[in-house]
Amino acid sequence: MDYNMNLCGGCLTCEIACSYKHTGEFNHLVSAIEIIEREDKPGYKVRIHHDNCGDRIVCDGCIDIEGDPLCVQYCRKSDDLRTIINAFRATLRSQQKSEGYENE
Ligand code: SF4
Ligand code: SF4
Repeated sequence: MDYNMNLCGGCLTCEIACSYKHTGEFNHLVSAIEIIEREDKPGYKVRIHHDNCGDRIVCDGCIDIEGDPLCVQYCRKSDDLRTIINAFRATLRSQQKSEGYENE
C-alpha cells in the first residue's frame, strides 16, 4: 500500500528501525516499510508491504505494541508517519474482521 508523505525527507531511519525490531539487524532492504522517490514530482512515498514480497517483512502494524511502532518513534516527522501507520492498522483490522480472524 502506498501513501504520499509530503514532508518525508527520505532519511530511511524508519526502514532501519523496522528491520531492527523484526530481525535484530540494521538492514533496510528487508524492512516492511519502504521509502520510494516520487516520479511525478520531488518527494517521497511510503510503501507498506502487506503481502509476501521477496525478503521483506510483512507489516503487521506492530499491533502487539501499545502506542507507536519503532518506525514512527524514530521518524523526524512522526506525526505524519503515525497517521499513515494508523490508517494501515485500521485497514488491517477491517480485513481481519471480514476474514473472520477477529470478533466484532
Ligand atoms: S508498523 Fe512495525 S512492521 Fe510495520 S513498518 Fe512499522 S515497524 Fe515495520
Ligand atoms: S523516518 Fe520519516 S522522514 Fe525518514 S524516511 Fe522514514 S518516513 Fe521519511
